[in-house]
Amino acid sequence: MESEYTKALDGPTRRRYDKKITKHIGYDPYTLKKSDFSHVLADLPGVEAIDTTNYLVLQTSYYTASQMKAYKSLEAYNYFVCGWVNDLGSKAALNGCRLVFARVNHSQRSGETPLKTWIVAKQNGEVVTAHCDCMAGLSESCSHVGAVLFAIEAGVKMRETESCTMEKCKWLMQSHVKKCPHSKQEEANLRLCAGDQGFCLINDGDDVKLDRSHAYYYQVQAQLHIVGADYCDFVVWNTNDIFVERILPDAELWDNVIPKVQEFFRHCVLPEVLGQQLTK
Ligand SMILES: [Zn+2]
Repeated sequence: MESEYTKALDGPTRRRYDKKITKHIGYDPYTLKKSDFSHVLADLPGVEAIDTTNYLVLQTSYYTASQMKAYKSLEAYNYFVCGWVNDLGSKAALNGCRLVFARVNHSQRSGETPLKTWIVAKQNGEVVTAHCDCMAGLSESCSHVGAVLFAIEAGVKMRETESCTMEKCKWLMQSHVKKCPHSKQEEANLRLCAGDQGFCLINDGDDVKLDRSHAYYYQVQAQLHIVGADYCDFVVWNTNDIFVERILPDAELWDNVIPKVQEFFRHCVLPEVLGQQLTK
């Protein structure tokens, strides 16, 4: 049975797609429903960092014959971290492989129908093939495929560290930032602590606000800009009191900070994400 998606592909693209699913899967993944997949971690193929790197960086694209650049991996990793990979499920494919299927949000356009992205990997984690509907069937190593690979990798790590391998695949996304400061656990009025050394709140005339030079402010701004949200409620809480400040995106700070962050990511974080010298 063929999906509407497959029927709409043009000649060469359709032949390529048919060949891929006949050889590796035995059915068209786009005909399946969410309930056709297993959502437990134990059923995921053992994709590790090296498999993701092999596929994303070293795999030659069928269509462009060009290697996927490292910055694509960075974009893919961001998609995953932002919580844009959803409904991750797996199902048996041919030759002992597993098909992993997920829905991935478009970048920035959160209102649109998510993309449908799938990969096929051997049980040992080697990625055999992949597909995404983001570009009319042409895409086999886009950032969405990368994001799904990072999500599987995270699931595999979770099942290795947690005793319960029947745990569902889920990654939570924060909608607000909440802090419960240990040093202010007993305070009856958090506002009166504003200006204390190391505390995140400062006085601003008659008002109290989050210190614009505090690490929490950078955390809030990063989350605001990455997910494209209009505001973030910053909450400081203890059992006696609560402080809430609505924080808006700060474009000037972001323009200033982003080149530094890119530099740091390129030279420190990305080599570790791909190579795992320290966190294996
Ligand atoms: Zn894609």
